[in-house]
Amino acid sequence: MFKKVLIANRGEIAVRIIRTCRELGIKTVAIYSTADRDSLHVFLADEAVCIGGPRPQESYLNIPSIISAAEITGADAIHPGYGFLSENPGFAEICTACGMKFIGPSPETMVLMGDKAKAREVAIKAGVPVVPGSGIIKNVQEALKVCEEIGYPVLVKAAHGGGGRGMRLITSSKEAKTLIVTAMAEAEAAFGSGEVYIEKYIKNPRHIEIQVVADQFGNVVTFGERECSLQRRHQKVLEEAPSPFVDEDLRNKLSDAAKKIAEFINYEGAGTVEFLVDKDKNFYFIEMNTRIQVEHPVTEFVTEKDLIAKQIMAAAGEKLNISDVKLKGHAIEFRITCEDYEKDFRPTPGKIEKLLIPGGFGVRVDTHIYEGYKVPQYYDSLLAKLIVWGETREEAIKRGERALSEFVIEGNLKTTIPFHLKLLKDENFIKGALDTKILENKILPKL
Ligand code: ADP
Repeated sequence: MFKKVLIANRGEIAVRIIRTCRELGIKTVAIYSTADRDSLHVFLADEAVCIGGPRPQESYLNIPSIISAAEITGADAIHPGYGFLSENPGFAEICTACGMKFIGPSPETMVLMGDKAKAREVAIKAGVPVVPGSGIIKNVQEALKVCEEIGYPVLVKAAHGGGGRGMRLITSSKEAKTLIVTAMAEAEAAFGSGEVYIEKYIKNPRHIEIQVVADQFGNVVTFGERECSLQRRHQKVLEEAPSPFVDEDLRNKLSDAAKKIAEFINYEGAGTVEFLVDKDKNFYFIEMNTRIQVEHPVTEFVTEKDLIAKQIMAAAGEKLNISDVKLKGHAIEFRITCEDYEKDFRPTPGKIEKLLIPGGFGVRVDTHIYEGYKVPQYYDSLLAKLIVWGETREEAIKRGERALSEFVIEGNLKTTIPFHLKLLKDENFIKGALDTKILENKILPKL
């Protein structure tokens, strides 16, 4: 097992990883920017190294500084968390070259799955259905031909896009040429690569994903699905496990498909295989995330497995001895951000003057905030994840309402706690009648 892990991240996920490392008897090194001196992960880690200025480029994306911090503290592994460098194959390669284990898949796998057009090819070769679409588009003429073949509406997607960005909807041939050119230029500007591909636009699908962890001996374990259809601008706002839409048969099919992909690429570590699912339960692979995800705790609640522990153990070369993953009850995660939902979710970073964190049976809060903490303006607006568990979905919803109403975060900032409380009262949510557009089209206009 590793002796000392450097956590190349901040916020709640850094805290989350430190906690598991402690339980595994592994020493931890936190890194932090000058804006994060008072952050909780800095206090909880055994050692902490300041690696640069507040802007991510100066610190959490600053590879030479991070590697130096690992070297001076004698860390033998690096956990990248999510975001920042977690899907950067160059970083993984440098870690390895410097004699530190990157806790994640090989750089080759990251390159392959980080290109979403290549990932589609992998899925096809592995015998998994994908959304009808193309490979990388060579020029506008080819793009127009593909659009006609697939039939409008289509989505032009950046091959290296992420975080719900780099997607353009084209509804007719009239606007196609302009939008394709725009999409390519936007992809180049945002992701440093103008490569795009085209997919049929699936109308109001569900987003359902399968958690996998694979060890170095070819064992791929699946941990059931997560329902992530509640999205705003293609970004998840609430996730649950299991999905209210998925029966045993569909779960088996999705899990088999995820396993096929992971096995096909000899995957190692924790990863998530994402699918769109239509009303007739047809499913289509869209992408694989080669890291731990924000929403992993809902899976931890229903499987009673510490996924970060499994991820670290797999990276350390241990065998995953998991024969059967059983799902128990229902879990819901609320992403609590410092945003003003009444003003188009405008970020409102500020100082937390009063904080009361909910607790009790079936309640978990993953957070880095505390009373007196000043939320820096430089990073994402996630303040806390509230995760609740119930024997049934109804019980989880009731527990969510109870915990959200106990949760107090006050100061010169707004949070999405009131938004989530209202969301839980929505009849479509209560019925579990979800799709990726329902929040924007039906729920938000009523709030
Ligand atoms: P990202 O990597 O930016 O998260 P994804 O490919 O995972 O991008 O897609 C994010 C979301 O965008 C999906 O959950 C879904 O809501 C929407 N989406 C992606 N592809 C399609 C598609 N072909 N048809 C309809 N919606 C899509």
